[in-house]
Amino acid sequence: MLVSATEMLKKAKAGHYAVGQFNINNLEWTKSILLTAQELNSPVILGVSEGAGKYMGGYHAVVGMVNGLLQDLNITVPVALHLDHGSFEGCYKCIEAGFSSIMFDGSHYSIEENVAKTTELVKAAHDKGLSIEAEVGSIGGEEDGVVGMGECADPDECKAIADLGVDFLAAGIGNIHGKYPENWKGLSFETLDAVQRKTGELPLVLHGGTGIPADMIKKAITLGVAKINVNTECQLAFAAATRKYVEEGKDLQGKGFDPRKLLAPGAEAIKATVKEKMELFGSVGQA
Ligand SMILES: [Zn+2]
Repeated sequence: MLVSATEMLKKAKAGHYAVGQFNINNLEWTKSILLTAQELNSPVILGVSEGAGKYMGGYHAVVGMVNGLLQDLNITVPVALHLDHGSFEGCYKCIEAGFSSIMFDGSHYSIEENVAKTTELVKAAHDKGLSIEAEVGSIGGEEDGVVGMGECADPDECKAIADLGVDFLAAGIGNIHGKYPENWKGLSFETLDAVQRKTGELPLVLHGGTGIPADMIKKAITLGVAKINVNTECQLAFAAATRKYVEEGKDLQGKGFDPRKLLAPGAEAIKATVKEKMELFGSVGQA
């Protein structure tokens, strides 16, 4: 059964580790992530962007697939199904469809409008037992057409949004989505520290986990980050493994064209990536 992400992230913050949010795109992605979480006895958050939700057929299809896999694969570790960078309308759709967690990305609104919309969604989510993440300070890079510049959040604005009752908060600290450019200046630990001082026990979220050096990840966890989003890294691993299979001509040998064979190396590559991240984040054995 899906659970909200509130308890697992409170536990993570108190225990000084982070839970990975791994974004899903299809059955192979979902199965690989769930099996790895179960094998490593780790809590996990499945992230779904609005674009990926649409790609998979819609939010009801996603909920049906995930719930079916939890049952058929006997997954017993805590699993949350979370809308990633949701719009105001998208949040309501996911609450209705059976997600267990939502993120409202109101970072492109004025702080006043972000506050008004977040307040309404906190109530709607909590009434149904879902957890809710909010974002302050746009996170750089491009994700589903949402482009940000990698700014650092204002700690006072973080405090204002935290006080609305959100369960965890994404604050921009120089992190960006996708691959990091050569001239990236690194995470702003000064900002992270200031945000944590203002928001206290609230678990913080680090978006754009792909390509942040391991020592920076570990330092971020010591400063209150309890949820780390990983998306691009699984995509790169899947693509590389699939490319290798095809370049080696394996799809032309025997029944190598069977999708169950063709997609298997990619699925294994996702498992390896998820395992590596769970070990780095410290969530192994914490279910
Ligand atoms: Zn993000």
